[in-house]
Amino acid sequence: MLSLNEYLAEAEIAHGHLCAGQILGVRLAMFGLAKLGIEDPRGKDRKRLVTFVEIDRCATDAISVVTGCRLGKRALKFRDWGKMAATFVDLETGKAIRIAAKESSKKLAREMHPEIESKNQQQMLAYREMKDDDLFSTQWVKVDLPAEEFPGYKGERIVCAECGEGINFRREVERDGRILCRACAGEKYYDPL
Ligand SMILES: [Zn+2]
Ligand SMILES: [Zn+2]
Repeated sequence: MLSLNEYLAEAEIAHGHLCAGQILGVRLAMFGLAKLGIEDPRGKDRKRLVTFVEIDRCATDAISVVTGCRLGKRALKFRDWGKMAATFVDLETGKAIRIAAKESSKKLAREMHPEIESKNQQQMLAYREMKDDDLFSTQWVKVDLPAEEFPGYKGERIVCAECGEGINFRREVERDGRILCRACAGEKYYDPL
């Protein structure tokens, strides 16, 4: 593992700026990996880790920097729950831990540094100094990871009976005996013009 400051320097480049969310994200990931005993997530342990994030905000980029888990490697899973939390799954041991930022940490930041007017500056300093247990709640959890969720999964590609597009990783669904992609099955997030 690198130090907090080393990760923050990398996170600042990856994310475009340094903010309270970066500090929270870096610390959240460092805490989770420490709990799992994963020391070299981007080196020798890089195939050991899958990370679930529950928000698409600043901290998410920072979590990606520390863990090395990225969407394009299938090691980063996004659950759009709007919560500042992430779960780290150790594929080697099967252990998983969910870390969530405590609601009370914002109030604590105000109490720690009432002299700082800017909320962002206040949180940036306090989130560096705060104890892990004041910042985060932790929960050991079990994560069922089907074969197709593993980063290295190799499966056949299915063609949608409606649109003819290829579907990977068993994302096809059956409707009235036809094999469809999720868009054709009714989960479209877009409307053709
Ligand atoms: Zn940010
Ligand atoms: Zn389709």
